[in-house]
Amino acid sequence: MNVAQRLLHLASSRTIGTRHSTKKVTRSHLLTLINKAVKRHSRAMRDAQIQTILILDIDRFGHINFSLGYASGDHLLAEVARRLHTVPNCSLAVRSGDDEFALVIYALHQEQLSQSIQRVQQLFDQSFIIQEHECYINVSMGMSAVELMPATVEQALKQADQALQAAKQTGKNKLVTYHPVLSPQPASSVEMETELRKAILENQLILYYQPRLELSTGKIICLEALVRWNHPKLGMIPPNEFIPLAEESGLILPLGEWVLREACLQKVRWLEAGILDYQVAVNVSPCQFQDENFSDKAIHIIEQTGINPAYLEFEITESSIMQNMENTIAVLEKLCKKGISISIDDFGIGYSSLNYLKHFPIHCLKIDRSFVKNIHSNKDDLAITNAIIHLGHALNVQVVAEGVEELSQLEILRETTCTTIQGYLLSPPVSVYEIEQSFHQYDNRPVMIS
Ligand code: C2E
Ligand code: MG
Ligand code: MG
Repeated sequence: MNVAQRLLHLASSRTIGTRHSTKKVTRSHLLTLINKAVKRHSRAMRDAQIQTILILDIDRFGHINFSLGYASGDHLLAEVARRLHTVPNCSLAVRSGDDEFALVIYALHQEQLSQSIQRVQQLFDQSFIIQEHECYINVSMGMSAVELMPATVEQALKQADQALQAAKQTGKNKLVTYHPVLSPQPASSVEMETELRKAILENQLILYYQPRLELSTGKIICLEALVRWNHPKLGMIPPNEFIPLAEESGLILPLGEWVLREACLQKVRWLEAGILDYQVAVNVSPCQFQDENFSDKAIHIIEQTGINPAYLEFEITESSIMQNMENTIAVLEKLCKKGISISIDDFGIGYSSLNYLKHFPIHCLKIDRSFVKNIHSNKDDLAITNAIIHLGHALNVQVVAEGVEELSQLEILRETTCTTIQGYLLSPPVSVYEIEQSFHQYDNRPVMIS
């Protein structure tokens, strides 16, 4: 341990006394605590310092309180506080709201920061035993920008708050790092709209592809197109950080059209090159799906690009199709008649009636990855996954398990007779170049996963 590291160690150990506490701090007290922690480490580290504020919010905490009782809720908070205490390079961890914790994490370099953040995420991979009940919890997290270095701690805290809101609004159970496009001020919305519009016109958007594997044959059967924004100054921005804002501003319509056109053109290029003979899946946002011209625009793009619609799948969410049932039936029937397949994305988290499955021409259910995540250790998640798979078999549709990261999950999915998988175990979403390099060799041959 060098002098700077020892100083850091000493500085952080001073906050230990308060770290276990689940006493909620007020906003102004929180700012004072963060200021103190940041100043201590700024002095101790001098060079190459990174400090970030991470706000962590327990997903569905109200539900835990309601179903297990408030005493259990308190126990859970205490256990979360205890686990957060073990995060390396964390100079402060306090409860900043009912189910919210604020952390200050320091690092000498980006990699060290990533390790600490990863540790925070791993804390929630293990179950919590709360008064004899075993439960898993998910958390949403927002982190202040690291590269942009806000002028004040107050500004950094605001950034972390905005990032947390973005995480919660885009499906929860995720970490979002602050990015200027998250800023809700009208000025920056306008700015963002201009930037996104430019991004669409100037080809700053880019599609990555993630393969879907059929378990019975070991063959890839589909590539899901996932959009990224390759910003000239800010680098690659993930979709969760700009799709919600595109939806709010209405820009999702031109963006969605760009994605569909690009995915169709790419498929045609692959066909012409005689490689990667798989279906291509395109995500359709609820706003796009509700647009009265959606099916006409989609069919127009298909005709313009010359793609055979049998190669195309639209991934839509339950919330999309539940909004206007009559319209949904008409649109889906029109698309199906054209030969396009339809899958229900993030299936199982929509809280909707399953009745719609009888009425709609659906080809595939994609089990949300929150169920797959703990399938090897949580019997409830396994039971839900099993039920969706049986439902899929009974309806004669394909079932995809999303987010398969480990062999242990794959082994269980094989036993459950799941038909297809997608996830980091096989491949994360990758660029066109990488997908051609990695998967061309498997054209029509089984992929070996080990
Ligand atoms: P989605 O459609 O459910 O896509 C799957 C997301 O899960 C992708 O995130 C993918 O990178 C991630 N993922 C895949 N396998 C794993 C895994 O094993 N572990 C973990 N932890 N994650 C995994 P990505 O690319 O960041 O996209 C996030 C969401 O953004 C998508 O969720 C989709 O809802 C939306 N999105 C992406 N591209 C588009 C688009 O072109 N149009 C629209 N409307 N939405 C899009
Ligand atoms: Mg999808
Ligand atoms: Mg999904």
